[in-house]
Amino acid sequence: MAVDRLYALLERLGNLLRTEERAAGLPHGLQPVHLQALRYLQSCNRYSNTPAALTEYLGLTKGTVSQTLLLLEEKGLLRKQADTQDRRVIHLLLTEAGRAVLKEALPPELFKRALTGLPGEGEALEEALTGLLRSLQAANAQRSFGACGTCKHFKREGPGRFRCGLTQEPLSREDSQLLCREHEAVPPAH
Ligand code: SF4
Repeated sequence: MAVDRLYALLERLGNLLRTEERAAGLPHGLQPVHLQALRYLQSCNRYSNTPAALTEYLGLTKGTVSQTLLLLEEKGLLRKQADTQDRRVIHLLLTEAGRAVLKEALPPELFKRALTGLPGEGEALEEALTGLLRSLQAANAQRSFGACGTCKHFKREGPGRFRCGLTQEPLSREDSQLLCREHEAVPPAH
């Protein structure tokens, strides 16, 4: 049955991915969860780089995420910065060292090589996996954490000029590619 075959494939890929992440983190004294936290913080926007958003994204407990942040901070891979408007809100920012570690470790070499060789730059696979992820998130009532440019609140105001319809703040082209905690996918056209 296709369901069994697809599930088995995802299971094997998941195992392989964790094994490769473990190996990639080893020289830096990092576990997969540490690399995943760094990767999220590098890919998310300014509304989403908080401990609460990271906890939600990783689907872990607050305690585990606090330990993760402590270790990453001790290693000088990230720093905390209070919000300029609301000092109670803490933003998590990657340091240069954090970016360097991430660049070296992820994606693990084996995955980089295999994904580079996919036909059509892997567009069909990306579309299929995104659809699968969205339906799983919807079934679990989870946030999508999608890229800003695909959000229903994303507004194009002119060449290279964008705005968030939720916060009414301007967005840059770079912002449009970042992940957001408030992302809501555009409903499919009928
Ligand atoms: S447009 Fe959507 S994804 Fe982008 S910042 Fe606003 S809420 Fe977040």
